[in-house]
Amino acid sequence: SSADKLDYVKSKIGEYADFPKKGIVFRDIFGALTDGKACVYLRDLLVRHIRDKYPDVELIVGLDSRGFLFNLLLATELGVGCAPIRKKGKLAGEVISVEYQLEYGSDVFELQRAAIKPGQKVVIVDDLLATGGSLLAATALVRKVGGVVLESLVVIELVGLGGRKKLDSNVHSLIQY
Ligand code: AMP
Repeated sequence: SSADKLDYVKSKIGEYADFPKKGIVFRDIFGALTDGKACVYLRDLLVRHIRDKYPDVELIVGLDSRGFLFNLLLATELGVGCAPIRKKGKLAGEVISVEYQLEYGSDVFELQRAAIKPGQKVVIVDDLLATGGSLLAATALVRKVGGVVLESLVVIELVGLGGRKKLDSNVHSLIQY
């Protein structure tokens, strides 16, 4: 069942105290991705969710860099395209940019203007929702080029950080801490 698959995936997510710095508990998606059964279950859970709730999705947009793990996977399963949001300076051609806040300072995300057609329905994916700064910036980028954000979808949500409150689009997570 879906609940069993979810429990299995959750059991394989790594947990590392004080990484990348003191006080942070790093939730490591690669603990699950190195397990063949967890890979298949994770795919099943994500695809099932999108098929059930957003059968009209037209494009998957994944965030630099662990969001990319799900971009082509979900796109091919659903028969739609995918596009990356990348850190500044990596994408060719005409790009649009949005600054977003990190714990200390800020960074810039970019999206190719040609990646999204006006009105296209988008699901944004990433491995993890923490403060929500990344997904907030991603949502702004998709909307700037005329895309419609159906949902921000993550594998893991750190509920205590309240990132979901920052976002005005739908948010869904498979696993919560
Ligand atoms: P935020 O913008 O604060 O929501 O941070 C989300 C991004 O930072 C995601 O792309 C995650 O990969 C990464 N991240 C933040 N906190 C953690 C954590 N505790 N464990 C693993 N990844 C994290």
